[in-house]
Amino acid sequence: MKLTLKEKKQETPDVTSFVFISGSEIGWQAGQYLHYVLHHEPTDDRGSDRWFTISSAPHEGFVMLTTRFAKDNGSSFKKELEGLNVGDTVEFSDLDGDFVLENVKEKYVFIAGGIGITPYRAILKDLENKGNNVDIILLYSNRDSNFVFKDELDNISNPSLKVKYIEGKVDEKHIKDNVSDIKDRIFYISGPEGMVDSIGEELKGLGISEDNIKQDWFPGYD
Ligand SMILES: Cc1cc2nc3c(=O)[nH]c(=O)nc-3n(C[C@H](O)[C@H](O)[C@H](O)COP(=O)(O)OP(=O)(O)OC[C@H]3O[C@@H](n4cnc5c(N)ncnc54)[C@H](O)[C@@H]3O)c2cc1C
Repeated sequence: MKLTLKEKKQETPDVTSFVFISGSEIGWQAGQYLHYVLHHEPTDDRGSDRWFTISSAPHEGFVMLTTRFAKDNGSSFKKELEGLNVGDTVEFSDLDGDFVLENVKEKYVFIAGGIGITPYRAILKDLENKGNNVDIILLYSNRDSNFVFKDELDNISNPSLKVKYIEGKVDEKHIKDNVSDIKDRIFYISGPEGMVDSIGEELKGLGISEDNIKQDWFPGYD
């Protein structure tokens, strides 16, 4: 199946969103991802396909892919993606993923590392659209002060949403300082693989049951 590029949005100096229109109904749940194929020559050993979260919510009517471009050692896939022009098409398939919100009655902590913010944008926009004021604490860590989607997150209409921006790595202290009721909440963690694993272990060390931890690993980042 094909998506057509409608717009490119520079979110921060090294992060761009690609807004696509689909000819057919995709019917995704906020937080799910797609498989993309970009044929290009020469292709490096990292290959011509990738998975990306849909950073838009279904009601927005477009599929958005938001990604970071590396200063050094960027892949040939990302160079091809960066070079797409409005009107170009990309192949996609395999809608999948269980990093979705299952129960709006529960209380949550969303932990994002850098570009791991993408599923949360989709989920928070979706909840806002449905008028679900779910109790969520979002701990959003980033390597610098260029927090992707900051303006949008600050304007989400949900009085039960608290967003804490953390410059640098999120750790156990940030969790303890910002979440007083850790045993009553379900934890979602999204970002580079190493960060997601280490926060998961810290949460287990704090006595959070594995059943209350959901993880979304983004491979390919240092
Ligand atoms: C379910 C799922 C959802 C995802 N959602 C997103 C998303 O929403 N946004 C997003 O950006 N990514 C997402 N990813 C990750 C995405 O698929 C890519 O793996 C990631 O963006 C890295 O892309 P890249 O390999 O083209 O590397 P680049 O972005 O070009 O480079 C990343 C960094 O890795 C280093 N590096 C990694 N491997 C090598 C290598 N073999 N040789 C040299 N240097 C290397 C580079 O130095 C560079 O600094 C998701 C992955 C999964 C599985």
